[in-house]
Parts: sequence; structure tokens; C-alpha cells
Amino acid sequence: MLRRTLLLSPLALAAQQAKELRITGLETELKLNPPKEPNYDAIHKLGVDSGSVTLRLKTNAGITGYATTTFGMVKGGPKVVQTILEEEIRPLLIGEDPAFPKRIRAKLWRELEYHGVGGIIHFAIAAADIATWDILGKHAGMPVWKMLGAYRDRMPCYSMCGWYYDNDDNLAKYKRSIEEALRHGYKAIKIKTGRYSMADDERRVKLALELCPRVMLDANQVFNRNEALRRGRLYQQMGVFWYEEPLPPHDMEGYAELARELDVRIATGENLYTKYAFADLIARKGADIVQPDNRRAGGVTEWLEIAALADAAGLDLASHGGGSANMNMLLTMPNAIYMETGGPQKNMVNGEILAPQAPGMSTEPA
Ligand SMILES: [Mg+2]
Repeated sequence: MLRRTLLLSPLALAAQQAKELRITGLETELKLNPPKEPNYDAIHKLGVDSGSVTLRLKTNAGITGYATTTFGMVKGGPKVVQTILEEEIRPLLIGEDPAFPKRIRAKLWRELEYHGVGGIIHFAIAAADIATWDILGKHAGMPVWKMLGAYRDRMPCYSMCGWYYDNDDNLAKYKRSIEEALRHGYKAIKIKTGRYSMADDERRVKLALELCPRVMLDANQVFNRNEALRRGRLYQQMGVFWYEEPLPPHDMEGYAELARELDVRIATGENLYTKYAFADLIARKGADIVQPDNRRAGGVTEWLEIAALADAAGLDLASHGGGSANMNMLLTMPNAIYMETGGPQKNMVNGEILAPQAPGMSTEPA
């Protein structure tokens, strides 16, 4: 072995050493956003207690991997994720080779199992995984979507713009928000439904469809099975593109019932943790469009396995949330149809966002 090493040229030796990547440090940064005017979906109040934690993984090669976990609500959320990263995940990651994300995932699941592989623990595991992939891409000198093997180089996106607001009984703010999204170049929009009566839903959907032909609806788990079906028949008749999260996420049988009864596409998945929950949903035929959230699903490694399960079942894929982490994953999947976003986008052409070109995940904060 010694002799073989000695036979290597200085250049080859340097290359070999450079390949032995190791995680050498973990840093976090907490950010709590100042409260802004709240917006609402059927069950949540957002924008008042939002914040994020940014993870930086350091390596012996001088490469830093980034991931940012955001919270639209739950004031203590970022702080809890920060604590899990600092106190539980740091000692497990130091010394690991980032080229083994599946082995790292297995280790984190095993060692953090007492807290549960799910819930907020999974937000922290996902951040570690995303930062690991950022390191790998930077080390390879390629954007991660290319390194994984791409299917496309741009992604159709839609704007989540039709919220509920305070003092908006005449829907003036709601209408303005949709018009603004269309001005920004979006060809598809999503609106919230289910907070009030069916008649209120009807006027919101009607107005949205008058402004934009491609409208998705999101009920954020608010209905029981009977109400979900009753309202779903109305939405279907009005011609919306998909009907998202009508039921609480654990009601898998309810989702199967709705998907059987309705022709409108049922979309769900943002509140499911790990591929095992998605395997259950897919086996029961509970969705037409699968929507993993990269924080809850578990980062790039787990998210891509979920995406492949959906593909094998002939189901479409859309991300919950946007940003470059979602872009890198969606671009690799033939069954991906949409990325969710909000406001104006820098690299949008004809309703599609162009792929990031920097090596890694492009998750480094601006
Ligand atoms: Mg949703």
C-alpha cells in the first residue's frame, strides 16, 4: 500500500487527498423576521412569527455546504431546529464523508430515533442532508441537478398568491395580489379555500378563474371527508387544475375515497414525513399529484426517493415551496409538473424558472 502511494505523482496524490472529504465543522445562524401584516389560509395565520435557521457545514477541503430551514409561523421553530443541529447532529456529522448521504441519513435516523424520525427532528435532518448535497455539488464543480442527472433545465412554476387577509371582505387585496402575480409573468396561480362558506369559496374561485385560466386550490386540511367531497364537486365543476390538502394528512383512507369519487386532481403530501408515509398514500391511491416538502420529507436524499415512488405509480410531482433546493430536485424528475413559488422571480421566462448554474445547491444565502 505504501509503495503504491509512493508511486503516485504529486498531482495524483493531491487529487487523492482532495477526494477524502470530511465534514469538520457545523455552524448555525438564527433569523427572526419582523412581523408583517398577516395572511391566512383555512387554518393558519402566517407572517407574524416567521423566521429561519441557516446551517453551514464546513469541510477539510475548504468547501462550505448551506441549507436554510424557514418557518412561516411557530416562533420557537427555528430555535428548536438550531438546538437539534448544534447539540444532537453536530457530533454525529463531524468526521463523516459527505459523499455518503444515505449512510449519514441512516445514522441520523438511528441516533435521533428517541425523539422520533418525523416532526421537527426531520426539519433538522433535512437541513443536514441539503447542506451535504451542496458540498458534493461544489466539490464536483456542478449544479446538483446536473450531477444527479437532469430531465429538464427549466421548471414551470405557479404563484401562491390568493390568500385571506384582514379587512378584505370585498376581495380587493385578494384580487390585487393575483393581478400582481400575473404582472410578474406567472401563467398559473394558487388560491386558498375553505376558511369560510362554500358560497365564499365560489366567489373566490370564480374571480381567480376570470383573471387566470390555470388555478390550483389549497384547503390546508380544513375539511372532514363529507365536506371535502361536497366542496370538491363544486371546485371540479368550476374547472380548477388541482384540489390540494382537503383533509388532515393522516386520513389516508379519506384521501383514497376522495381520489376515487372526484375527477379533479387531488394533490397532497406537504405534511407527510419520509418515503414510508408516501408509500402508504400511493399504495392506497390517495393522490394524483404528490407534493413533498423538502424539510418534512427529509432533504434531497429522501425527497428523490419519494419522487421516484410517485413516478413508478404514474403520478405527477410538484414541490411544496420553491427556491433553489426544490429546483435542483424537480429538474431531475420526469414526472415533475410544477414548482410552488410566491413573488417575482429573477430567472423566469414564459412562466418557467431557469435552472441555477452555480455548483452545488445554490442554497447559500444571498
Ligand atoms: Mg399547501
